[in-house]
Amino acid sequence: MSVDPNTPVLRNCIHLPLPEDELIEVTGKAKDYAIMHGAAMRSKTSFSPDSLNFAPFVLVPSSFPRKEFEKAVGLQPIINRLMHNVAHDEEFITTTLAETIKVDEFTANLFNIYRKVLAHGFTQRTSLGMLRSDLMLESGCPELSPKALLLRGEAGEDGQADTAAAAAAAGTGSGSGGGGRGKAKSKAEARSEEEEAKRDMHLSRATVSGITTATVASKDRKTAAYCCWKQVEINTIASGFGHLGPASKTVQSFVLRELGHADKLPKMPNNNALAGLCDGMVKAWDIYAKPQAVILFIIEDVSYNICDQRFHEFYIRETYPHIKVLRRTLTDVHREGKLGLNKELLLSGLEVAVIYFRAGYEPGHYHSQDEWDARYLMETSLAIKCPSIQYHLAGTKKVQQALAQPAVLERFINDPDEIKAVGKIFTGLYSLDDNDAGNATYEMALRTPEKFVLKPQREGGGNNVYGLDIPDALKRMSRVERSGWILMDLIHPPLTKGYMVRPGAEMPPTIVDMVSELGIFGVVIGDADHIIHNYQAGHMLRTKLATANEGGVAAGLGALDSPYLIDSDDEDEN
Ligand code: ADP
Ligand code: MG
Repeated sequence: MSVDPNTPVLRNCIHLPLPEDELIEVTGKAKDYAIMHGAAMRSKTSFSPDSLNFAPFVLVPSSFPRKEFEKAVGLQPIINRLMHNVAHDEEFITTTLAETIKVDEFTANLFNIYRKVLAHGFTQRTSLGMLRSDLMLESGCPELSPKALLLRGEAGEDGQADTAAAAAAAGTGSGSGGGGRGKAKSKAEARSEEEEAKRDMHLSRATVSGITTATVASKDRKTAAYCCWKQVEINTIASGFGHLGPASKTVQSFVLRELGHADKLPKMPNNNALAGLCDGMVKAWDIYAKPQAVILFIIEDVSYNICDQRFHEFYIRETYPHIKVLRRTLTDVHREGKLGLNKELLLSGLEVAVIYFRAGYEPGHYHSQDEWDARYLMETSLAIKCPSIQYHLAGTKKVQQALAQPAVLERFINDPDEIKAVGKIFTGLYSLDDNDAGNATYEMALRTPEKFVLKPQREGGGNNVYGLDIPDALKRMSRVERSGWILMDLIHPPLTKGYMVRPGAEMPPTIVDMVSELGIFGVVIGDADHIIHNYQAGHMLRTKLATANEGGVAAGLGALDSPYLIDSDDEDEN
């Protein structure tokens, strides 16, 4: 993907470039620090279950506008509730996916499980949602005045700008997941979660109404760097980086301290994603209420992103030693799993209270009908699933596209302010169903493909088609086949400049243009009638080369990062 030369650049956290000897020394240390603090992955090129490589990372944190960060954090409990309500709306899910399942075999298989479960009635009515809402800043936001756009200028290598400590930031963005400790939630805890959510709501009301613009660059020129953010997607299954999010902050904090910039640390928001997510699993375990029952992680045949699973397991084992964790593939569950008299899921003689799916989101995880049978077995069991089948379907791209249509949110959210706040985060999302609207989308995509990304019903990265590749891809499909896809406006995030450190790459790293994607975690637990827990649970930041379409870290294109919060008046600190 080429980068528009007018793309604004967010100011840097510290002055770059670093002197070469200092860069070489700190990068070497940071690589070891990353491995030794679990910011690591198994190598895909020379895999060994006995070793780890550091995960690619950005040397110093990338700037992110504080207001937009806080807005995203504040909105998460509302997005949690939205997705919970969507997952429990049988008519909406069925109608929305009607065309998709005619052509997309994977979604059809999931939907068949859903249909069968609906027909027999849900054995377990409670679901555990561990969501991640992914977003990018939009620098080409139409709300930004043309005058401001004209003021764009060179930027990015600004060093001395921000010396003031912003201690207030230290509390921002932390998950509220603590306090479960393997006990049932007290009324007071439930109230405090609600109050926190309400506070978050005020925060989002305060920030979504106005246009925010961060300014960057030199003394006499201001550059509008962004004005809003847009949701890239919402993940309802295997939302990764609960460990790698906080681990990125650990590594970058070390680097900043080594470089003599400890004063910057308060501008990196707290990140309790690991605790927030694991405590969510334990809250579900509490609801299941059987002291001997275990938590089951469903894993891939080979887990490259092992730290992002094992740290969850180790956190649970260390914090709640009475709760055992099992790891099994779908194939293992098919071989070993069975249902007890009350439909409890039994594995190796142990009853499973909670199932956490870190696999099962792509066709490659289902080698044969056996794995589908295992998924169905789990779905019909008494175990609390993360996600349950209805939550999985609610996270499809097609459902996201349907939610972005006018007036649809009113079906799921009562409060007009909340509807407005959520509505603003959607960028254009268009149906490609086999009807008039879908045909109009098709024509639009052929006319101006550079404005769009084309997405199938897949997760895990590497499946989308971008810009000028779209017409050929669409023309190869029949009208009916197109309904397996959706079209989305491309988001144009501002650039940051920095060093990306990768295993095996040349040393020292050079300064590159990058763009970031922020993910906000949320935990929601409840059934069709009640939400029992609902909270925001930390964040993660992934950064990729500005020229790359996608930035999956496990896929090798992205790098671990964490936000350095900047305020719109920071340039005055010079
Ligand atoms: P997946 O489920 O495979 O992760 P995503 O919708 O998250 O699918 O897309 C993968 C990646 O593609 C994102 O992480 C982002 O880097 C890029 N991307 C997706 N949608 C857009 C968009 N509308 N504008 C710009 N980049 C996008
Ligand atoms: Mg994604």
